[in-house]
Amino acid sequence: MKSVSFEEFIKLVSEYNKEEVGAVTKAYMIAKKFHDGQKRQSGEDYITHPLCVAYILAQMKADRDTLCAGLLHDTLEDTEVTKEDLEFWFNKNVANLVDGVSKINKLHFSSKEEEEYANTRKIITGITSDARIIIIKLADRLHNMRTLQYKSEYKQKQKSIETLQIYVPFAEHLGDYEIKYELEDLSFKYLKPDIYNEISEFRNKLEEDNIDLLNDMIYKINLFLNDMNIPNEIKYKFKNIYSIYKKTVKGRNKDSIHDLLALKVIVDDILDCYVSMGCVHMIYKPYNQKIRDYIASPKPNMYQSLHSTVFADDNKLVQTQIRTRDMEMIASYGLTAYWHINKGNAGKVMLEDLNKYQFFKSLNDLDYLVSDNKEFVTQIKSEVFSDRVYVYDSTGNIIELPLGSNIVDYAYKLGSNIAKHLVNAYVNNNPVLFSYVLKNGDRIHLLTNELTNNSEEDLGRVASTCYAKKLIKEHNKTTD
Ligand code: MN
Repeated sequence: MKSVSFEEFIKLVSEYNKEEVGAVTKAYMIAKKFHDGQKRQSGEDYITHPLCVAYILAQMKADRDTLCAGLLHDTLEDTEVTKEDLEFWFNKNVANLVDGVSKINKLHFSSKEEEEYANTRKIITGITSDARIIIIKLADRLHNMRTLQYKSEYKQKQKSIETLQIYVPFAEHLGDYEIKYELEDLSFKYLKPDIYNEISEFRNKLEEDNIDLLNDMIYKINLFLNDMNIPNEIKYKFKNIYSIYKKTVKGRNKDSIHDLLALKVIVDDILDCYVSMGCVHMIYKPYNQKIRDYIASPKPNMYQSLHSTVFADDNKLVQTQIRTRDMEMIASYGLTAYWHINKGNAGKVMLEDLNKYQFFKSLNDLDYLVSDNKEFVTQIKSEVFSDRVYVYDSTGNIIELPLGSNIVDYAYKLGSNIAKHLVNAYVNNNPVLFSYVLKNGDRIHLLTNELTNNSEEDLGRVASTCYAKKLIKEHNKTTD
C-alpha cells in the first residue's frame, strides 16, 4: 500500500467532516512530534503508519474522536505520552480509545499464567465498553498486513496466523466483510503462497471466462427492473481467494461451488427486494435449495440480503444477492456502516445497538456467568473465536451456537427452564436424542412439560458447550 500524505488525509476528512479538521490536525501534530525519529521496517518515518490507519478510518467516515485515536493509537505504547496527557489534550473518549487499542495488542491466548488470564479477560470485556476500539484495531491490523512484506518470514507467518485467529473473527462478528476478506487473503498469501497463487490464477481466469456472461445478465435484469419502475444498480463480484480455499478444503471441486459468481442487485426499499427476486426468477430459473431470506432473518452480525442462486446460460450457476442501499452498506462495512448511515450520531447509536450483535451479547453473557478467569478465557476462545453452527428455532429465528453443540446446548441457549423440562426434541420433524450434534440449517423443535424434571447431572453429562455447563453449575449452587 502506498503511504498517504497528510494533505490527502485532510482532504478526505473535510469531504464529510469539515468542522473537525482542526482537532484532527492537532492529533496529527502531536503524534508526529512524539514518534519523531522512529522508523518503520520499510525505512519510512513511523508517522506514516498511524496516518494510514487514520486514513482507513476516514474511508469509513469515522467520527472525530476515532480519527484522533487512530492517529495517536501507538503513542501510549511507543512514546512517553500518557493516558492523562491524551485526556488533557483531547478528552476522555480519545484517551479510552487509545488505551483500549494498546491493550488489545496484548491479547493472545497462549499464556497459562493466572495473571495473564485476568488480563485477557479485562481486555475482552473492555471491548464492550466502546466498539470503536475494535474498529481502530482492525484498521491498524489491516495496514500492518498490507505492509507485511518488510517483515521477516517468521514474523509474516506469526502475524498471519494471529490475524486469522483473532482479527478475522472480530471483523466477521462486526459484519465488516470488506476488511474480513482482505485480512483473510493477505494472511493466506503469507501462510500458503503456492496455493494462494494457484487459486488467484483460477479466479482471474474465472473472471476472464465469465465477464461477458455476467454483463449480459446485468443488462437483462436491469432492463426488466427498469421496465417495472424499480431503480436499481447491479454489480458482479467473485468469491475471495481464502473463501474458495476453505470450500475446496472441504473436498469440493472448485467449479461446483454455487456462489463463485455473484451479482449484487441494489434497490431502494425492502418491497423492491422481493419484487426484484421475482423478476430475476422470471428470467433465470432458481436453484431452489439455494434461496435464502436474510432480510426476514438477519445473520447474527446483522447482515441482511436476499440470496438466490440461479441457472444462468452455459450451465453455470450464479448467485444473486438482492438488498437495499443501507443493507449493502452494512454488508460491506458492518458496524462501521453506522458512520455512513447515522453520521455524527453514530457513536451513540452504535453503543445502543451493540446487543443486537450476538458477539457482544455473548461477551456480556459470559462475563456475567463465569467468575473464573481461566474458564472465561477458555470459553471465549472456543465459543467466540471458533467455527459456529446456525440453526432455526421453531419460529424461524436463526440461532448461533459453537460448532459441535447438541440439543442440550441449544435448550440452554433458549433458557435453563427449557432444558430442565425438556421431553422430546425434533430436528427437521424427526425425533432425535439429546446428544444429537446440530448441523447448519437444522430446524429444531423442542417439547417441554412442566412435570418433567431432568436431573442436572444428566444434562451436564450431555452438554458440550461451557455455556450450558456453567448454567447447570450455577443452578446447582442456587438449589443446594
Ligand atoms: Mn499500530
